[in-house]
Amino acid sequence: MAETMVPQSIVTDPEKCAGCLSCQLICSYTHTGRFNPLCAYIRINLRDDYRIEFTEECTECGLCVEYCTYGALQPTGEEE
Ligand code: SF4
Ligand code: SF4
Repeated sequence: MAETMVPQSIVTDPEKCAGCLSCQLICSYTHTGRFNPLCAYIRINLRDDYRIEFTEECTECGLCVEYCTYGALQPTGEEE
């Protein structure tokens, strides 16, 4: 399993996560060409209070933040 990292540009709030997996789908499709949450560089652990983790491959491109309509991912400094 890939190592995790903490992005400098993204703040997470698992309590707002709805588990929609839009973040994983846009990440995997953009960076691997596959529409598969398992290929994403962001992981939502639905069995562990929606814990949000990023793998070392994350480029901090910000797409997952853009596609999270629930406010669970925010740019650093703009979190509520
Ligand atoms: S910031 Fe970009 S590379 Fe990192 S998890 Fe989000 S979409 Fe994927
Ligand atoms: S972090 Fe946002 S886009 Fe990702 S599963 Fe949670 S609510 Fe959906």
